[in-house]
Amino acid sequence: MKTADGAEDARVTDFTHTIDGCPETSDAWFDVTNPANGIPFARCPDASRAQLDRAVAAARHAFGSWSSLSFANRRNYLQRFGKALSERAEDLAPLLVREQGKPLAAAKEELSRAPVQIEELSSIEIKNEVLREDAQGRIELRYRPLGVIGIITPWNAPIAIAVGRIAQSLYTGNTAVQKPSPNTPLTTLKMGEISRDILPPGVLNTVAGGNDLGPWMTGHPDIDKISFTGSVAIGKKVLASASSNLKRVTLELGGNDAAIVLDDVDPRAIAPRLFWAAFANCGQICVAIKRLYVHERIYEPLCEALAEIAHTVIVGDGLNPDVQIGPIQNRVQYERVLGILEDTRRTGARILAGGHALDRPGYFVAPTIVADIQEGTRLVDEEPFGPILPIIRYTDIEDVIRRANHTRYGLGGSVWTKDLKRGAEIAARLEVGTAWVNQHRTPDPHVPFGGAKESGIGREYSVLGLKSYMEAQVISVSTAS
Ligand code: NAD
Repeated sequence: MKTADGAEDARVTDFTHTIDGCPETSDAWFDVTNPANGIPFARCPDASRAQLDRAVAAARHAFGSWSSLSFANRRNYLQRFGKALSERAEDLAPLLVREQGKPLAAAKEELSRAPVQIEELSSIEIKNEVLREDAQGRIELRYRPLGVIGIITPWNAPIAIAVGRIAQSLYTGNTAVQKPSPNTPLTTLKMGEISRDILPPGVLNTVAGGNDLGPWMTGHPDIDKISFTGSVAIGKKVLASASSNLKRVTLELGGNDAAIVLDDVDPRAIAPRLFWAAFANCGQICVAIKRLYVHERIYEPLCEALAEIAHTVIVGDGLNPDVQIGPIQNRVQYERVLGILEDTRRTGARILAGGHALDRPGYFVAPTIVADIQEGTRLVDEEPFGPILPIIRYTDIEDVIRRANHTRYGLGGSVWTKDLKRGAEIAARLEVGTAWVNQHRTPDPHVPFGGAKESGIGREYSVLGLKSYMEAQVISVSTAS
C-alpha cells in the first residue's frame, strides 16, 4: 500500500472481519494508533452496513443448528476456541500492547486467561425447574437461547471482556456478532480469525468499524440482545436504540468506586494493594478504586506511602518488559485526564506525586496522587479513567458512607479494616453491584458482576449472567381429564 505522497506505507493491513466463517476486508479503512508514541501503525477495515447485515444474517442462519446442540457439545467447541487463543497468547500479546498500551505481561495474561474464563463459565449448569407437580399437572420453567447477540466492547480490556461475553452467548445456545472499539480492534479481529477453524460458520462473526457500526447494531431489527460494555453516556443511547425491537440488554457501564479505609489498618502494609487497585491498566478499569476515603488518623502516613509507590513505578511503552504502567489508551482520553488535572490544580489540592504529562511522545501521564481534595471537583465527582487518584479525608463513618453513596455511579466499592465483621456491615451499606472487604476487583466467572444505579443494567457471569442470555419459558402441562 502507498501513502498519498506515493511513499511505501508501513502500516500493517493484515486484518479481516470474520463473517459467516470467512475473511472479509472493506472498501473503507481507518487508522489504529499506538498510544505509546501517538503514531498510527495499522489500518483496520471499516465494516459497511451491508457487511453488518450479512454478519447478522449468517448468525441467524447458524442459530438453528447451534442452538440445537447440547450444552456439552457447545462447551467442547468453546474449550477448543479458548485453547487456540491461549496458544497464540505469546505472538498476539505484542499486538495487544501496541494497540492498547498495557504492559506486555498484562497482555499475555489477558490472552492466556481466555480458556480459564471459558472453562469456568461453561461449567455452570442451567437447570430446568419444576415449579409445581400435582394432580392438576406439571409446570416447568425452562430456559431458551435468545437468538442473535450483538456484543459491543470497549478499549480497556478488549480480549478479556469480549471472551466473557462470547462464551456466555455461545454456551447458552446463541450466535453472535461482536464489535470491538475502533481504538483497539486488531487483536479482536485476530481472535475472530482463530475462531474460523473451530466454530461452525456464522456462530461467531467479528466486525470492526467506526462510529456508525455500534448504532447500526443496537437498532438492528434482527439482533435479539445487546451485551454492551462501555461508558454511561453511550449506555443510555444503547438502551434507547435497543427499544426499537425490544432487544434484551445487559449494560456494563462506568464506575466511580469508593474505597473506605478505617483507622485500624497498617497504612504501609495496605498501600501497595490500594495503589494497584487504583493504577493497574493505567487506571483504565471500570472497577478501579477512583475515590479513596481515608480516616484522618492514618491519612498522612497512607498518603505518603501511596506517593512513594507512585514515584517509583516504571512508566513507559508496554513492550518494554520492565514497564509497570503504560500510556493512556487514546488521545481523547489523555486530553480529558489532563483537563481533570488542570481543574484539580485550580482547586488548591496537594499533588503528592505526578500531576503532569510525561515529556515524551505518546499519551503518558505520571501516576498522580492528590490529597486534600473534596467532592464538588471533577476529579472526585467524575470517572477519570486514568492514572490519578484523589485521597479524601474523613472522620465519621456515617458521614463517609453517605459521601461514598452520593453519586449516580454504583459499580463497586470496598472497605479496608482489620475488623472483618464491621467491614462486611459497612460494605453492605454501599449502593453498588459489588462491595468488597480488604480487596477490590476480583474477577470470577462464577460470581455475578454488574452495576447499581447508572453503572449498568443486569449482570454478567454466574448463573444469573448466563440466564440473561436466555428467555425464561414456562411449560405447563395439564393432566386433569
Ligand atoms: P464507550 O462507551 O465510548 O464505547 C464502548 C463501545 O461502544 C465501543 O465499541 C464504541 O465504538 C461503541 N459505541 C460508541 N457509540 C455507540 C453508539 N451510539 N451505539 C452503540 N455503540 C457505540 O466506552 P469506552 O471509552 O470504549 O470505554 C470506557 C468506559 O467503559 C468507561 O466508562 C469504563 O468504566 C467502561 N467499562 C465498563 C466495564 C464494566 O464491566 N462495567 C468494563 C470495562 C469498561
